[in-house]
Amino acid sequence: MEESKTLERLIVASNNKNKLREFDAILGHLFQVVSMRDAGIDADIEEDGVTFEDNALIKAQYVMDHTGCAAIADDSGLEVDALGGAPGVYSARYCGRHGDDEANNDLLLENLRNVPAPRTGRYVAAIALVRPGKQPIVRRGTCDGEILFERRGQGGFGYDPLFQCETGETFAEVSMETKNAISHRKRGIVAVLQALSEEQA
Ligand code: IMP
Repeated sequence: MEESKTLERLIVASNNKNKLREFDAILGHLFQVVSMRDAGIDADIEEDGVTFEDNALIKAQYVMDHTGCAAIADDSGLEVDALGGAPGVYSARYCGRHGDDEANNDLLLENLRNVPAPRTGRYVAAIALVRPGKQPIVRRGTCDGEILFERRGQGGFGYDPLFQCETGETFAEVSMETKNAISHRKRGIVAVLQALSEEQA
């Protein structure tokens, strides 16, 4: 705890507990990681970019502009090859309503109805780190997999029950440890960390 006083404050442009935990686990030794809410920001930031990178940068920049502190944000989604990369940046609102996971999964299955296995795709996460007076760092992490024909598993969220990852399990079946070890978000954050260490070398 003593150490955290000397670390630079880094605001995660999210109030999602899982994301905060993940960011803190990977970056907590370098930064004092705080949520947007704890930084006094209560906003629904409009994500109107056309790429994951645009949206991650929009969110991180908004937080830095309103606090003057370094900020980090992620933007993520599922890309399916047979659908030309859809749902992509529209993953959260694929069915037309924001965050309706069941309807999003139903629509995904419907749109892949005539597509044989393997229905390849990937989860993508863009991570943007912005710091006052420094160039932004934006990196992408991906996790390859296949879209199944029916849901499997009880855990996770979003498209996880349909997403079979490299272990052969769906993201709704893997342990939290496994997901956090191989996830697109983890890989994106590690890439940002790598860029930071190269900058300091
Ligand atoms: P956001 O980056 O939190 O806005 O997430 C965008 C959307 O992508 C989510 O609402 C999910 O539909 C999907 N998504 C992103 N990452 C994951 C994941 O790890 N599991 C399941 N769905 C995900």
